[in-house]
Amino acid sequence: LDSPLFSGLPGDLDVSFEFFPPKTEKMAETLRASVDTLAPLGPRFVSVTYGAGGSTRERTHDEVVRIQNQTGIPAAAHLTCVDATREEVDAVARHYWESGIRHIVALRGDPSDGSGNYTPHPGGYANAIELIGGLKQVADFEISVAAYPEVHPDSPDSQADLDNLKAKFDAGATRAITQFFFDPQCFFAFRDRAAAAGIEGEIVPGVMPVMSFAAVQRMSDLCGTAIPDWMEGLFEGLDDRPDARQLVSATIAAELCRRLYAGGVRQFHFYTLNRAELSYAICHMLGMRPKEQVDG
Ligand code: FAD
Repeated sequence: LDSPLFSGLPGDLDVSFEFFPPKTEKMAETLRASVDTLAPLGPRFVSVTYGAGGSTRERTHDEVVRIQNQTGIPAAAHLTCVDATREEVDAVARHYWESGIRHIVALRGDPSDGSGNYTPHPGGYANAIELIGGLKQVADFEISVAAYPEVHPDSPDSQADLDNLKAKFDAGATRAITQFFFDPQCFFAFRDRAAAAGIEGEIVPGVMPVMSFAAVQRMSDLCGTAIPDWMEGLFEGLDDRPDARQLVSATIAAELCRRLYAGGVRQFHFYTLNRAELSYAICHMLGMRPKEQVDG
């Protein structure tokens, strides 16, 4: 079995960690502690999300710059087109470039009123493809984009969604990070279809360790991720048992990663939700160790 769990340190994995900008000082402390825990694993980059409608513009900027300056790990800023003119988005991007940030996760974003019906800002970028074009005019950013193994809810069908992804690569993206999913076969099928469509760029699975099953159910409803039947049973009765729940979560995510690894995946992006332990445990099971420990 081609499993990293039982075969020592494969040493051939690249991971990245996603965080969100904290709202309070206490949340900021949690984020800092999480970054301190995960940084020694040597992620190839970390990223910080952008709140609906640009609501976290300053906080995202500050966290991205702080993490990159303090850890030396390349940090990527998520940026969306929502509720902003092209000039405003370009100004945010220019500010990033001037602050030393070279990597943007370029997204269309979702309506800030939660309505579900996306309408582009009249003077803004209509979608991620246009945003990539604009960013490349501002500076030669490295650009990551979003991909949807289970098809984006706004897309008429899976072919249109794949065409859209190809167009994002053609516009200048170097990597796609997927929406979270729980069925490895769904990722493999998507990867194969992308390759058949001529997409040669990296497609990195986004792995979401489940911290709260109810929250994941809500998110999955919104973004169209299927929750396998077996999963609810695994979390049944654990609402008041956070420690047991963590162990179950880590096991599910590690098993997903193990299967992805067995299918040839060597890059993983973790939705940390600003908590380090689950992502750390999963990386550990994938054979990753703090750099000093391995090098020394
Ligand atoms: P696009 O690629 O522009 O389009 C989305 C989909 O809509 C496409 O798949 C396309 O098929 C379909 N579509 C849209 N218009 C048309 C059309 N006219 N004709 C045909 N098809 C169409 N959101 C945030 O607000 N902040 C974040 O920081 C953030 N980070 C994310 C990180 C990752 C890794 C992922 C996977 C998602 C993230 N999101 C974030 C969510 C994202 O903004 C939403 O999923 C949004 O609805 C789509 O963004 P996109 O960049 O994929 O859009």
